Amino acid sequence: MSKLYVANGTQPKKMTIDLLERINPLRGKSKDIRIAIKPNLVCASPAEKGATTHPEIVEGIIIYLTRNGFNNIEIIEGAWVGDSTKRAFKVCGYEDISKRYGIPLIDLKDDSYVTKVYKGMELNICKTVFEIDYLINVPLIKGHCQTRITCALKNLKGIIPDSEKRRFHTMGLHKPIAYLNAVVHQDLIIADGICPDPYFEEGGRPVKLNMIAAGFDPVLMDSYAAKILGYKADAIKYIVLAESEGIGRIFKDDNDIVNIYEDSSAADNVTIVQKEKKYLKLIEQADACSACYSNLVSALEKLDELGAAEKIADQICIGQAYRGYRGTLGVGDCTSCFEKYLPGCPPSVEDIIKFLKE
Ligand code: SF4
Repeated sequence: MSKLYVANGTQPKKMTIDLLERINPLRGKSKDIRIAIKPNLVCASPAEKGATTHPEIVEGIIIYLTRNGFNNIEIIEGAWVGDSTKRAFKVCGYEDISKRYGIPLIDLKDDSYVTKVYKGMELNICKTVFEIDYLINVPLIKGHCQTRITCALKNLKGIIPDSEKRRFHTMGLHKPIAYLNAVVHQDLIIADGICPDPYFEEGGRPVKLNMIAAGFDPVLMDSYAAKILGYKADAIKYIVLAESEGIGRIFKDDNDIVNIYEDSSAADNVTIVQKEKKYLKLIEQADACSACYSNLVSALEKLDELGAAEKIADQICIGQAYRGYRGTLGVGDCTSCFEKYLPGCPPSVEDIIKFLKE
């Protein structure tokens, strides 16, 4: 039965190499296979802020692979709608890795796509994904204001075009995420729990968990991530759906974990408690994209810290389903027919704060 391997500590590169040496994931594979590493570079924000995969983990993977004779490696990613993957590659330290090790960076926003159908649902997926032989998914163990958490299953959203990312939101996110994982198999997962943001996908409130987890089952990994982030796995709909599609099994207890260091005293014993975000009641979202929704939540969180969130409005509308509809107060271009709306696709956190204050 598949297990999760965990390393605790503060040296991401060494921890990653130790994990890979322990699990020896590529045994028996031809040295010529084309390997893609898929980090989470959702936005152009350095790993210390808690939104993006620590570059030292990816560096550790590259060192392990090349030491073992695997040299056909690339890094693939498509940042969220509204940000540039190339900017994220630069800001997050991946351009340096690319130069140092001669590894190409593939911006999937420039890729064409193929359409796959799973149980009647069409899924447009970047072409490159079907040309590689081995996919190493390197997500963060991170909070998400729409789906509560994001880890291995949801990180595959970076391998679809921007138009499809928007469409996933119109389909409610959970089912298309589960179905995408039924179509695209991830061969290995190295999940970054060094200093992720347990509350917001765009980072800003990192917590030092000082751990990395490796495994082969994305459902097991995500249900373990949910536990770390203070949720029960059955509270995350796409995990439950993915399990029912036979993609993996749900984490049960500590018997599912192998800690690779005998002395795991380096582990920070952090318990994440999710606080109630009362200001979420103000948001009327209908098919909102991640960046748009997340920026609005982040703006309200900041206003809440100033004690101003609940005085601002009774209702703030956001999302693609408002296109062409009239209303009172909206955020984003999709609400352009509203009496008052903030343009932008997506508008920035700073602009939303300014707009709501006004
Ligand atoms: S304005 Fe509309 S399309 Fe643009 S990011 Fe926001 S929800 Fe998505």
